[in-house]
Amino acid sequence: MAVADYMEAANSHYYASHDPFGVKGDFITAPEISQMFGELIGLWFADLWARARARDVHYVELGPGRGTLAADALRAMSAQDRRPDVHFVETSPVLRKLQRDRLPDARWHDDIATLPTEGPLIVIANEFFDALPYRQYIKTYGGWRERMVGHGEEGFRPLPGADPADDRVPDHIRDAVAGSVYETSPAGLEIGRAMAARIARQGGAMLVIDYGHEDYAAGDTLQALNAHAYADVFSNPGQNDLTAHVDFSALADAARHGGARIEGPVSQGYFLSALGIAARAAALVRHHPDRAPDIGAAHHRLVDEEEMGTLFKAMAVVSPKWPRPAGFPEKGEE
Ligand code: SAH
Repeated sequence: MAVADYMEAANSHYYASHDPFGVKGDFITAPEISQMFGELIGLWFADLWARARARDVHYVELGPGRGTLAADALRAMSAQDRRPDVHFVETSPVLRKLQRDRLPDARWHDDIATLPTEGPLIVIANEFFDALPYRQYIKTYGGWRERMVGHGEEGFRPLPGADPADDRVPDHIRDAVAGSVYETSPAGLEIGRAMAARIARQGGAMLVIDYGHEDYAAGDTLQALNAHAYADVFSNPGQNDLTAHVDFSALADAARHGGARIEGPVSQGYFLSALGIAARAAALVRHHPDRAPDIGAAHHRLVDEEEMGTLFKAMAVVSPKWPRPAGFPEKGEE
């Protein structure tokens, strides 16, 4: 089977059977590190919504995890008198249950097709696109081949497929040396294009935060995480979290194709700092002096270059009918 089919089967089992987050889980995401993350995102949406003078806006989250980001963002929005109805796109029954405990009034969707077709959409996707299936292509001495997964005595192993796949690889990397890997997520790009088309027509914006790169370089970024440590991608499928770096330039192109404007990507550190995370951290410390060390550590972890600040990126997909969002530099300013 193709790497993408392996990744899809492994991850759907993984997310359907686990709550992967937190200290006891396999990884920790930004909203689980601190309430500041979701609050700043909620304020970002509230500001944009107010300036757009929009009505009947829907909050949409793709892959909401435990529902922590949504709870923090909606609380911050509600303090600004913005109370959208809530739509979650989630496939995992285990995570749906956790989300329902937090936000019982949300509506759940198996995929984006059933989201409301009228009214602006404000959409957040944090660490969603990295978990979608990726296709990989490998350059062999006989040209490019799709990377497949076979099963033998040693268990699952990657191997080049039999059919030439040179025409599936972009021109600028076609001549790469043997052993080079090109990866792409057709499923992710289609969701990016389709959400952009919805947003262009209905109004609204989508904020994508994920780890990845702005300029595509050939390379294999597929990774497995288990109990906060790297694991082998091809061992114990369904027991590890499989992700790959998001190709932001490809996602931006897909979203432009759907008719939306793009802001960023900028680093997560830049974005959160521009939205005032330092002031929010200081305010939290004033209210909870006993928690000052934890709040300082969380702030550091979210924005520092050596932590999540640089590897993670923020990019906005905005309706041409909506104003420019906060948190992104004017052209040439960053
Ligand atoms: N946004 C959350 C969770 C990130 S983990 C956070 O930041 O903490 C990835 C999330 O995407 C999980 O909720 C997982 O169940 C969901 N997911 C993965 N593949 C999906 C798919 N194809 N459709 C909908 N949700 C999916």
